[in-house]
Amino acid sequence: MTEANTAPVTGHSPNALAAVEAEIARACKDARRDRASVTLIAVSKTFAADAIIPIIDAGQRVFGENRVQEAKSKWPALTSAYPGIALHLIGPLQSNKAKEAVALFDAIHSVDRPSICQALAKEIESQNKHPQLFVQINTGEEPQKAGIPPGEADAFLASCRDTYGLTISGLMCIPPVDEPPAAHFALTAKIAARNGLTNLSMGMSADFANAIMLGATHVRVGSAIFGHR
Ligand SMILES: *Cc1c(COP(=O)(O)O)cnc(C)c1O
Repeated sequence: MTEANTAPVTGHSPNALAAVEAEIARACKDARRDRASVTLIAVSKTFAADAIIPIIDAGQRVFGENRVQEAKSKWPALTSAYPGIALHLIGPLQSNKAKEAVALFDAIHSVDRPSICQALAKEIESQNKHPQLFVQINTGEEPQKAGIPPGEADAFLASCRDTYGLTISGLMCIPPVDEPPAAHFALTAKIAARNGLTNLSMGMSADFANAIMLGATHVRVGSAIFGHR
């Protein structure tokens, strides 16, 4: 008998991380995909360093935050203490935070309007730093949600490239909470495929296995690892 088999699998614990890892491995196997084709982003928003450190110690190196200010206050100390950490911005970005965002983050999942493209292009050039960029698609066309409507995605992606000189690596979506996510994941994958984009940031605690079946390359998992916020 081992502790790991009897310990709860939720809450901010290495056991919860191991349970998420096991489910990712199983989904990859079911989808006949290589485990290495999926990046687990541990979403640590609202959690302090004392909750994050055990997850780093368990081997996790990719983390997600949804606010630039919060990330700036807690991550520089951690990234200097623990080498090899990658930080992903998964929440909305304001133009006036683009400078800090480019300086802090290795990936930005929320590119969703021309003013952000312009601000990012300027900072990428002046800092000579190239975070991986995702365009957020508002697949449910929800008025309160950020993202480009699916019907405008192709034109927006073309303008990212041609007008702003940005290299977009993939698409991100957050399906409506009250709908099955599969159709939203499939739509995001379809838009990415026709635009020659290989990365798909989709799937959260409740649905990351489903997202992996539908092609997710980056899953953003918070509460299943850290517990309730
Ligand atoms: C908070 C958040 C997540 C993680 O959500 P969980 O349900 O806790 O896994 C994923 N993506 C985005 C954009 C988020 O803001």
